[in-house]
Amino acid sequence: MHLPKASYPPPIMAHARMMDFPLTLTHLFDRARRYFPKGEVVSRLADGTLHRTTYGEIARRTLLLASGLSKLGVKKGDRVATLAWNHYRHLETYLAAPCMGATLHTLNLRLHPDEIGYIARHAEDQIVIVDHSLLPLLQKFRAHVPSIRKVIVMADGPGKAPDRPEASAELDYEAVIASGDPKYEFPEVGERDEAALCYTSGTTGNPKGVLYSHRSMTLHTLATTMVDSLGVGERDVVLPVVPMFHANAWGLPYACVATGAKLVFPGPKLDAESLLDLMVKEKVTLAGGVPTIWLGILAVLDAAPKKYDLTAMRTMLVGGSAAPAAMIDGFKKRHGIDILHAWGMTEMSPLGTICRIKNAVSDRDDAALLETKASQGFAAAFVETRHADDEGHVLPWDGATMGELEVRGPWVASSYVGDEGKDRWTKDGWFKTGDVVTIDSEGYVRICDRSKDVIKSGGEWISSVALENALMAHPAVLEAAVFAAHHEKWSERPVAAVVLKKDQRATKEELAKHLEGSVSKIWLPDAYVFVDQIPRTSTGKFLKSKLRATYGDILTKK
Ligand code: ADP
Repeated sequence: MHLPKASYPPPIMAHARMMDFPLTLTHLFDRARRYFPKGEVVSRLADGTLHRTTYGEIARRTLLLASGLSKLGVKKGDRVATLAWNHYRHLETYLAAPCMGATLHTLNLRLHPDEIGYIARHAEDQIVIVDHSLLPLLQKFRAHVPSIRKVIVMADGPGKAPDRPEASAELDYEAVIASGDPKYEFPEVGERDEAALCYTSGTTGNPKGVLYSHRSMTLHTLATTMVDSLGVGERDVVLPVVPMFHANAWGLPYACVATGAKLVFPGPKLDAESLLDLMVKEKVTLAGGVPTIWLGILAVLDAAPKKYDLTAMRTMLVGGSAAPAAMIDGFKKRHGIDILHAWGMTEMSPLGTICRIKNAVSDRDDAALLETKASQGFAAAFVETRHADDEGHVLPWDGATMGELEVRGPWVASSYVGDEGKDRWTKDGWFKTGDVVTIDSEGYVRICDRSKDVIKSGGEWISSVALENALMAHPAVLEAAVFAAHHEKWSERPVAAVVLKKDQRATKEELAKHLEGSVSKIWLPDAYVFVDQIPRTSTGKFLKSKLRATYGDILTKK
């Protein structure tokens, strides 16, 4: 039969036939309540108590908290700030604020009070939920934030916070929960509604607000649970050492809520022994933190290899700064522990790349494999990466050409609060990370530097991260930060600030000799300074601006 042209081929359906089901954190909350009510949440509180509860109890209290907050007038879009360590009450607020339609805003307690005040004012925070032990900090900036209507105080132990007659306007967190209506249920929220707000810690300029949606956080949560991502599942016992004010504790709390994984919160005690003690007692399988934390832990394990039983540990997740290859190797060879290296940013919720060893690279020899493991890995599903030169030309994935990393994806910020820093987005919609990288043919990204830290020596770019990695492979070196110092001829040359391990010695000449084998001769630092500790930012990164301010003239001074 001859068909008239108009009906052949058959018309394409204009719309697929799937439900337009909203991607919200409320669904993840309901999942924990319904399917994992017995799942455990353990917190070491500031007063030392090891507090145990369940997702069922957390869910009940979260609804009461939301109800109590709405009785206090908190409504859709209001900013509910937290100034708190990692513990179960912080988790309740993590869930209550976004699911009731308000916006969770995690304040970074390690910043200077003036900076916290700036951020809280910029965000127009209305409610602050604060640890009792952090009240003195809040008092230092509260007067500068006129938008704050109410302060709710969380005790440092399981009960109520001690009464403070001088602060009659403050409410006790447990009293707010007690005021909640047991019949309260969350209102419907849209997937594009605001869920949470986090400010960059200002390493590169004024802190900027990143506003996450329910949709972005839900998709991010799903991505963190993928097997070849962080692979969080119900059988896991997860210890977020990374603070809940640092890029949503990398999404770990929400990943646990979504999967029912046991959560272990460390509270304010973050020294190596206290963390190891929790890991052993609670049989932690996955712990996440910045390299400094793991360097401290490695030193303690090396000093007493048999003392801590970490057989339950499946992965130590490292991010925030580059994980030194020697550390990755040390954990594996000496203690049988796998390090999983990941890269991210506050602007990316934060997960960007994860260093999983793909089949295509698994046959590399041990040294090459370690090199790969110390890279930042390849993009998480739904994240796209490319790198570009100063003129914006996209560069080849050859593992050698350095350029600025650009990313895009459903949990990457499309602008900052108040439209600041518009120049961070390219015309075609990619976010410019400010990280200088190479990308190899398999897609593995290697961070060479933050663009402002890269050392420009003559026409050459020298990667401070590569030098640090090589220095930290020296047995006497605990930590090393390499930074640019002024140089009359070359404009900049590398200088290394080195912290030696306890009771260990190494001379400049020995360190230079050690480096010779692993980096090109023109990369060798022109000077070494031995220091007791390296200055850090509020999120544990090397504060190279401080090193430059202190030692930047070391090569030009006569
Ligand atoms: P801030 O920008 O205020 O320091 P972030 O925590 O968002 O706060 O920092 C993101 C930056 O941290 C990245 O741009 C990158 O420079 C650095 N970073 C994060 N993870 C890694 C990693 N695994 N290796 C090297 N650098 C990292």
